[in-house]
Amino acid sequence: MERASLNIDKLGTKDAEPKAEAALLKVPGVTKAKVSYPKQSAFVEYDPARVNIGKLVAALQAVGFPASPTQARYICPTCQGTYQAAGACLICQTTLQPIQPEKAKPAAKKAKR
Ligand SMILES: [Zn+2]
Repeated sequence: MERASLNIDKLGTKDAEPKAEAALLKVPGVTKAKVSYPKQSAFVEYDPARVNIGKLVAALQAVGFPASPTQARYICPTCQGTYQAAGACLICQTTLQPIQPEKAKPAAKKAKR
């Protein structure tokens, strides 16, 4: 089992705790989910063979809680290793992918000449 903690940006009220936990527990592969309103965070235990942090983040976003991994920002699509910085996986050399869906990209800058 892997463990991950996620920051949740807008956990409006204490009622959000069970809602967010339920959303996480619905994800196949998640075995434990504990959401803390005071800490605005979620702690999840999951089977890395079945689910990855990106799916956990997506599950929370789907019920209205924008979330982001507390530690890792990038994930290896091959071995699911998580990293703080972009680059290549230390284990299998695969190019890491951002876990959080990228926000609107800055408009492509037109080359000024
Ligand atoms: Zn890897």
